[in-house]
Amino acid sequence: MRVPGIRAGLGIVALWVALVGLSLWHNLGVLDTQVGEAALARSRMMVMVIQTTRLWNARHGGVYVPTTDATPPNEWLKDPERDVTVSGRAYTKINPAYMTRQVADMISAGQGMQLRLTSRKPIRPANAPDPWEDAALAAIEAGRPEVLERVVEDGRSMFRYMARLPVEEPCLKCHAEQGYRLGDVRGGLSVGLPAAEFVAMIGPLRQQTVLVHGLGFLILSGGSLVFLARLRQGWLRLEAVNAAQERVVAERTAALRTANAELHRSNAELENFAYIASHDLQEPLRMVGGYAQLLEKRYGSALDADGREFLGYMNDGALRMKQMIDDLLAYSRVGRNEPVLAPVSLEDILDMALANLAVSIAETQAEIIRPAPLPQVLGEAPLLVRLLQNLLGNALKYRAAGQVPRIIVSSAAIEGGWRISVADNGIGVPEAGRERIFQIFQRLHSRSAYPGTGIGLAIAKKIVDRHGGRIWVEAAEDGGSVFHFTVMAAEAVSGSQQGWRKNSDCS
Ligand code: ADP
Repeated sequence: MRVPGIRAGLGIVALWVALVGLSLWHNLGVLDTQVGEAALARSRMMVMVIQTTRLWNARHGGVYVPTTDATPPNEWLKDPERDVTVSGRAYTKINPAYMTRQVADMISAGQGMQLRLTSRKPIRPANAPDPWEDAALAAIEAGRPEVLERVVEDGRSMFRYMARLPVEEPCLKCHAEQGYRLGDVRGGLSVGLPAAEFVAMIGPLRQQTVLVHGLGFLILSGGSLVFLARLRQGWLRLEAVNAAQERVVAERTAALRTANAELHRSNAELENFAYIASHDLQEPLRMVGGYAQLLEKRYGSALDADGREFLGYMNDGALRMKQMIDDLLAYSRVGRNEPVLAPVSLEDILDMALANLAVSIAETQAEIIRPAPLPQVLGEAPLLVRLLQNLLGNALKYRAAGQVPRIIVSSAAIEGGWRISVADNGIGVPEAGRERIFQIFQRLHSRSAYPGTGIGLAIAKKIVDRHGGRIWVEAAEDGGSVFHFTVMAAEAVSGSQQGWRKNSDCS
């Protein structure tokens, strides 16, 4: 992952611009809707008052007012009783349309508002609609109950409203002759309200909304940038720590590799030395043994009892040393050349090991139990024979007094290989000695109790190591011991051998 930089910061600011901008747009839109609703409410109220007054007038069949210059007789009213004289004073009839006109004139003269009666079929031509009114009336005739729009006229922002004017019973008296019937749209009441007044109403709210959004944007962007800067610092610190750690790991790995190679080299040298030394020691030892025997044969009778005893010790020592040198040579020989692993039948290997031990098995009358055939494994046949032979030989040798040896050889599948177990009912291995017995010349008993040199398990371990496996011992349930070792399955490919060893360690 990359460390967040300037681009990430710009990206976050852009995101906040978009989000805060969207919220501002939405909130201003809500305020505009409220302005429209206020204008609609005001328009409806005006229309309701006018409609009610018109109905009142129509229900009275018109009302008489004194005829004056401001209120001359209505030339469009066809009524024989339009003008009357009462007590010498002239009166003229005011029908709803005339009354509306006069009221509208008074309103329009006032606070910049407009009120007008209009119709697409006017009796009085001056009542003809302007273009906006014509479109609104058309919409109302098509079924809309009312129309409200915000328009700009002569540079002024206005709310224009049109309410339908239906034909009611009293209207038919004058308008039936135009062909209107009850419920028809006779025309409309057109209201015009300057938008400035309503916009001024929400002015402080608008300012507040813009301010809150501006502040919000600054806080959110600033906070995000501070957070990003902290994150970046932490990130860089972590990267530095990681790099330092990687350097240390690389250094340690290199040191470990060097030490490992050095260890391998000195091990090989040591083994080589042991091999050469033990090989070269054989000859002088043979000489010592040979001449000691010759001495005993030729001059034995000339020696006194002490002399013959000393000669006996000499012979015995020479024999023991020969045994140890043979063992050391056998140990050194394992792994002198590169391992060549091939699929082998462990069942056949076991047969061979048992054949080699036939005499001991017969002598001890041991019972060998093989619960199931052993699997095919990857290994070097002669070494595997040696391995099983050493384990079985020990199981026979370290038997409990007065007990017939009972040895079970079994296998269990593990990931990529097998775990082979050799269990006996012998004397068992005390816990404290379970690691030590796999080291060269390490024994838990005296030679007088059990003969041996302590090389068998060291060779067994070397063979298992060479096969990439692991060997260990556990106590058996009945007091004996169980030796386990792991070995690769015959199908294991060479590429997986390294990884398999790790798995086998966990088994
Ligand atoms: P050796 O048998 O010549 O002593 P090994 O290396 O084979 O050498 O065994 C080392 C020691 O491990 C033995 O001296 C013995 O104490 C112990 N040991 C090995 N196998 C068994 C076994 N099956 N039961 C009990 N002890 C054992």
